[in-house]
Amino acid sequence: MDQKREIEDIKGNKKQLGCLGCAIQNGEVESPGGSIASTKYFDAHQDYEIPIPGFVILASKRHLQSIDEFIEEERLDFIEFLCRLRKTMRQAFDVQVIYLIQEEDTSHHFHVWIFPRYDWMVEKFGKKIQSVRPIMEYARENMKTSENLKKVDEAMEKMKTYF
Ligand SMILES: [Zn+2]
Repeated sequence: MDQKREIEDIKGNKKQLGCLGCAIQNGEVESPGGSIASTKYFDAHQDYEIPIPGFVILASKRHLQSIDEFIEEERLDFIEFLCRLRKTMRQAFDVQVIYLIQEEDTSHHFHVWIFPRYDWMVEKFGKKIQSVRPIMEYARENMKTSENLKKVDEAMEKMKTYF
């Protein structure tokens, strides 16, 4: 059994959770705004904790840690879904640059961050991987405003419609 820790969603609701991926899959919590799109093996949703519009998490439905645990069908499903999500972000709300990040040493199960890069991030925090954590902390502390949460919702709605 996973160690539980307190997790706060983008709207400020706190909950003790073990594996966040499993909690979302079994309905213990709902990702903010619900699922953007899903396939047989994967689900895409807004990041649970960080209120950046279009910060999409592509998570496996199964509890696994690494891509080398994928069965063949999951491999194909994964790359198709990832490409489709990327294209959707570009076309539905003009995200021209993303970072793809996957941490295997996470307390949650397999998920990829599809992290959008916006001009305000570059201006405030610079580029490259070392800017990502400060951006996330900044968003967690300062972007839970109703105005910004509306932008998060709008980005999700655009993606859902495009899909
Ligand atoms: Zn899990």
